[in-house]
Amino acid sequence: MTKFETVIGLEIHAQLSTKTKLFCSCDNDSFNKEANTNVCPICMGFPGMLPVTNKEALEKGLIASLALECTINKDSKFDRKNYFYPDLPNGFQISQFDQPLGVHGNLKIILNGEKKNIRITRLHLENDAGKLSHEASGTLLDFNRSGTPLAEIVSEPDIRTAEEARIYAETMHKLLRYSGASDADMEKGMMRFDASVSIRPMGETKLYPRAEIKNLNSFRSLESAINYEVKRQIELWESGKAHATEVTVGWDEEKQMTKILREKESAADYRYFPEPDLPPLFASDELIAKCKAMIPELPTEKFERLINDYKVSESDAKFYIEDLGLSNFFEECAKKSKNPALSNSFVLSILMSKLNEVEQKLSDTKITATDLADLILLIDSGTISNNVAKSTILDEMISTGDKPENIIKKLGLTQISDTSEIEDFCKKAMEANPKAVADIKAGQGKAMGALVGGVIKISGGKANPKMVNDILNKLLLQ
Ligand SMILES: [Zn+2]
Repeated sequence: MTKFETVIGLEIHAQLSTKTKLFCSCDNDSFNKEANTNVCPICMGFPGMLPVTNKEALEKGLIASLALECTINKDSKFDRKNYFYPDLPNGFQISQFDQPLGVHGNLKIILNGEKKNIRITRLHLENDAGKLSHEASGTLLDFNRSGTPLAEIVSEPDIRTAEEARIYAETMHKLLRYSGASDADMEKGMMRFDASVSIRPMGETKLYPRAEIKNLNSFRSLESAINYEVKRQIELWESGKAHATEVTVGWDEEKQMTKILREKESAADYRYFPEPDLPPLFASDELIAKCKAMIPELPTEKFERLINDYKVSESDAKFYIEDLGLSNFFEECAKKSKNPALSNSFVLSILMSKLNEVEQKLSDTKITATDLADLILLIDSGTISNNVAKSTILDEMISTGDKPENIIKKLGLTQISDTSEIEDFCKKAMEANPKAVADIKAGQGKAMGALVGGVIKISGGKANPKMVNDILNKLLLQ
């Protein structure tokens, strides 16, 4: 039986986070607005209207291109892409054809702990269409989204599995959000995927006709649709009926299957020509430098730095890069406490599980990274025990936002490190549990736990655990 290799390329449409639409001054945020209220004659495509390019959209496009290591075409332009569809009032889309904003970029993804580079073919700007909703009574049109600025990001066919495609899309999602180019809110449809999928016998380098799955709007549907499509293509191949031409397919989320919509259009079908109503775009060196300076540390760099600088595990680093607020909180705490290991365990295990229990977000609490660092310093100096810190004090910090020093004073929780006082506790614990003492003396080391537990209880959790162990050992030898 033939073994197959899957070849996948992705086109991603991401809404750029600008104040206004691409060619008019309508609000770029149509969320929760009544249908057809966020429109003007320009984005409705009325005859005689002149578009004006939104400079902020050019900047956000440049930021995304630079974050993706693209070469910038300082001279680029807009082109008309002609096609008829009811959600496109102009009868054409304003896009970029042969001079896109950015070309030849890279996006590194982490795949099974290894870095893999996916080449980016191009990034170009274009405007979005309106929205159709099909009701029982007919089809409704809402043009609020019409004219929204999009970056279309096209990858080379470097992706080999559905899982890899999902990881690429998730990495892109984070990069766009980190860089500020797009809010990429999936729930609001700000990021959508088209996946080109083909198969070939393992070892061949030729590309066979692909199927393009249109308009996938979640990471899960992206992965499921590719998996389904690969299975379908292998079946066709094996029964001698593989597609001879490229096709466009749609994904039916309910039935979990793709269906063929039409033969895929080629560039010639769109009769591109330079947009006559807009001057060419020019990105000066100053503008490029300004945009470059606006790019912060990106997720893959952050992932590697967290592992290198703080020795956190790969899975912890992955968790942190999903949540910038949390990772900044951790870093601040680790730097101030100079104890990254304990900071990591306090933030990710202890604090997060407490917050999850009460379904609270870190940003909703009054606890600060500086206060948590202080708490860790108090453990390190032996002022309080780890146990008291992670229970009573941390709980109080979360609920009141009070500083750990104040809580310790208020509740009298200072750790007891006085030898004679601890010796007293130990003697009491031994008297209370003669069986444990006898067991230990008979060589059963396990019984030690019961004695230590006894001391901690008698001391109200305040006895320094290391000293308790040392002193118990000494007393048991007598
Ligand atoms: Zn408008």
